[in-house]
Amino acid sequence: MNGTDPMGMGLPLIGSYDVGRYVECDMCGADLTEDTRTGGFIFSGKGTGPCCAVRVMASIRGYGEEEYIQGTCTPGMAFADWIRKIRSQVPGGSTVRIYGSKP
Ligand SMILES: [Zn+2]
Repeated sequence: MNGTDPMGMGLPLIGSYDVGRYVECDMCGADLTEDTRTGGFIFSGKGTGPCCAVRVMASIRGYGEEEYIQGTCTPGMAFADWIRKIRSQVPGGSTVRIYGSKP
């Protein structure tokens, strides 16, 4: 492991782990790994599950922030499967990296 944080704050990488199949809604933290509902989208890097899609979309429209929607779930595909498909297309896509000061 090496490199510094992508935010450009110069923080060292202090840990990483592979999330595997695990998918959660970044808005409410719901575990959607085995959830079969379709819907949801990625907004500003946050996976927004079908549980929060309607509420968050209303907020996005209210603020005119549609340009920050980076992808929308394939119709009929489970949100979790869609997220896993995106991860599989990105090297290290299922790896979470943690940056910060060393303890
Ligand atoms: Zn949610």
